[in-house]
Amino acid sequence: MDKLHTEINRRPYVRRTSLFNLLFPLRISEEAASTWKKHLERDDSRIVDLFSGQLRSSLHCSVCSHYSNTFDVFCDLSLPIPKRSSSGEVTLKDCLDLFSQEEKLDKENSPMCERCNRRTESTKRLSIQRFPQVIVIHLNRFTTSRWSISKSTVCVSFPLTNLDLGPYGPVDCGPVLYDLYAICNHAGTVNMGHYTACCSDDNGWCFYNDSSVTPVSENQLQTSQAYVLFYQRNCILYYW
Ligand SMILES: [Zn+2]
Repeated sequence: MDKLHTEINRRPYVRRTSLFNLLFPLRISEEAASTWKKHLERDDSRIVDLFSGQLRSSLHCSVCSHYSNTFDVFCDLSLPIPKRSSSGEVTLKDCLDLFSQEEKLDKENSPMCERCNRRTESTKRLSIQRFPQVIVIHLNRFTTSRWSISKSTVCVSFPLTNLDLGPYGPVDCGPVLYDLYAICNHAGTVNMGHYTACCSDDNGWCFYNDSSVTPVSENQLQTSQAYVLFYQRNCILYYW
């Protein structure tokens, strides 16, 4: 997607400038909007229109209580898969909750606090500041440890309609609903795998496996091979 974007970027010649701006502290929404505007000044394409969103990382210093925010553009959300719960089930919501859970950082791993001017113990939390039209959710099945890579084959259940990402967005943003339209599956192991896809169109869902295309029913979509989920924003609310 990065390559596609680079080729069709409407602003390929704008020089990259530093986004760092501590001179004029802005409100969160203004800061996010200003960062987004700067992004569009150099990266603007149909890919950005459809797939790009903005992630907010909030850092809270435990010593002086200072909050600082950084904003990053994302084209996909890479979600960790939690350990199976006692019920043995893992849902997409569990993955999103883990992704957005507050993380404690010790002094060594914390960035400098802008106010204390030194590394302090802090907490970090990720949230979605700007929702893309299409959100690409990557279930991070591959874990790299020091000596090896392993693949998780946990079945993660996910909604086909009305996935609400509102709780992971700005405070009080209300429901932000998405419907699933495609799944990329990974079968096999770390060393040898095979990709297939399920996509929906007006006639329903089809399973794409190399040169073969076969219709599938909705209850065949949720498998332990689901690897990347493609959700598009459900716009019904806009017409009310
Ligand atoms: Zn501080």
